[in-house]
Amino acid sequence: MERTLSIVKPDGVDKNLIGEIIKRFEGRGLKVIGLKMISMDKKEAEGFYAVHRGKPFFESLIVFMSSGPCVVMVLEGDGAISKARELMGATDPKKAETGTIRQQFASNIERNIVHGSDAPETAAYEIGYFFNSLEIFSA
Ligand code: UDP
Ligand code: MG
Repeated sequence: MERTLSIVKPDGVDKNLIGEIIKRFEGRGLKVIGLKMISMDKKEAEGFYAVHRGKPFFESLIVFMSSGPCVVMVLEGDGAISKARELMGATDPKKAETGTIRQQFASNIERNIVHGSDAPETAAYEIGYFFNSLEIFSA
């Protein structure tokens, strides 16, 4: 069993895609074991995306991620990290596979609707960033 952290980003919430995205994850056999709506200030968004500090897109990404509420969730299942990323599609919606969340709904490489952890270590950091043990419900 593997866990991953996903976020419906502010553009996804704005476009009423919360249910659509959860439906796709659940439909692929991933279990939602933690879920909440939050609003990040700039400092909180910077902490979440600390690995990208210094990159050309960082400042703009932080403004975007702190522009409105997000839905953060913990997903659990076999191969949860790769399954979630497959459903999301490539970072740049122009390069994302047909039928993926980003290909279908994202406006551009920054406003790309959804986040998913990229490795077990980043998943552990990201889950701990938003959830404590009392907020995760694993069978
Ligand atoms: N991003 C961006 N421009 C880029 C690359 C990334 O605005 O050239 C944003 C985008 O919102 C992306 C996030 O920064 O989802 C994190 O980038 P990463 O490379 O980790 O992509 P992801 O893992 O989300 O596919
Ligand atoms: Mg990433």
